[in-house]
Amino acid sequence: MSTAAAPSTIGLYTSGGDAPGMNAAIRGAVRGALHLGLNVFGISRGYSGMIAAEIEPMGPRSVSNIIQQGGTILKTSRSAEFLTPDGRRRAFESLRAHGIEGLICIGGDGSFRGAVEFYDEFKIPTVGVPGTIDNDLYGTDLTIGYDTAVNTALDAIDRIRDTAQSHDRIFLVEVMGRHAGFIGVASGIAGGAEEILIPETPTDLDAICRRLEQRAEQHKTSLIMIVSEGDEQGGAVEIGRKLGERLGVDFRVCILGHTQRGGRPTATDRMLASRLGYEAARAIAAGEANVMVGQVNGEIVYTPLRQTFTKKKPVNHGLLDMAAVLAE
Ligand code: ADP
Repeated sequence: MSTAAAPSTIGLYTSGGDAPGMNAAIRGAVRGALHLGLNVFGISRGYSGMIAAEIEPMGPRSVSNIIQQGGTILKTSRSAEFLTPDGRRRAFESLRAHGIEGLICIGGDGSFRGAVEFYDEFKIPTVGVPGTIDNDLYGTDLTIGYDTAVNTALDAIDRIRDTAQSHDRIFLVEVMGRHAGFIGVASGIAGGAEEILIPETPTDLDAICRRLEQRAEQHKTSLIMIVSEGDEQGGAVEIGRKLGERLGVDFRVCILGHTQRGGRPTATDRMLASRLGYEAARAIAAGEANVMVGQVNGEIVYTPLRQTFTKKKPVNHGLLDMAAVLAE
């Protein structure tokens, strides 16, 4: 964490995977920054647009009527070019041509890695806003988009429960989370899932088979297993195949996929995004550099950007123990 000369002109971009609530964060950051007297530019398509100089001034009306919309009006991207020194130099030239002296980056750990790299080379200070459905950033209890993604998954799980119950079927529901099981744990507990398989914990298929057989003996004939896509035993299709071979039972698979990325943000996400966007504007205006603004126990906390991806936010194992008891 460091404080630099406060910039008077800033650029704002969304980067990496999109997340519901990013628009509310854009609105919070733009109006917060304008209120503090900063000039604000919107950079389209993350680092790709920074390199291509897709940069436009933003005023208070640029963010009208977006708080309720999913996605991001600034668009987002993954940029291979920004991984190269030449790409980053071109990005710097674009910023310099517009007089941009500071950045607000709404994104996930990859986007923050890029911002740290960029600062090391060109000394453009960045304040990060945690925007990812995965909730896997150290330095904030919740990331923007996570609550909406969990509620979207939950809505699907409730519907699947109805059909599972009617037909006495076992469903494997795959939720997003390549490296983190936060969506899996929350949607699994809230949806009353019988099993929750996540990347952070070893998945013992033999033990699962034993529990499934016990449940069959107890006449529990329908059930739902939540699988995070990054489980070390594979995704839901793979795990369904492995369990099916062991037990000779037919497993139904439902992959929720990108439905979890879209949709209107929940009130929780809009609140969080508005607050973190606004606080990011205050931080950059105060000369903060390379910190992420997060919310921990209801308070605003600045965490050095590097720590957000070098430190791991742990899943709550107590919740998993509870879920196992509640599924009995
Ligand atoms: P997220 O921010 O959602 O984690 P990504 O991991 O795709 O998304 O990262 C977004 C972009 O950030 C990448 O496409 C790349 O342009 C940039 N980026 C990621 N890691 C680095 C890095 N080590 N150096 C420079 N740029 C990076």
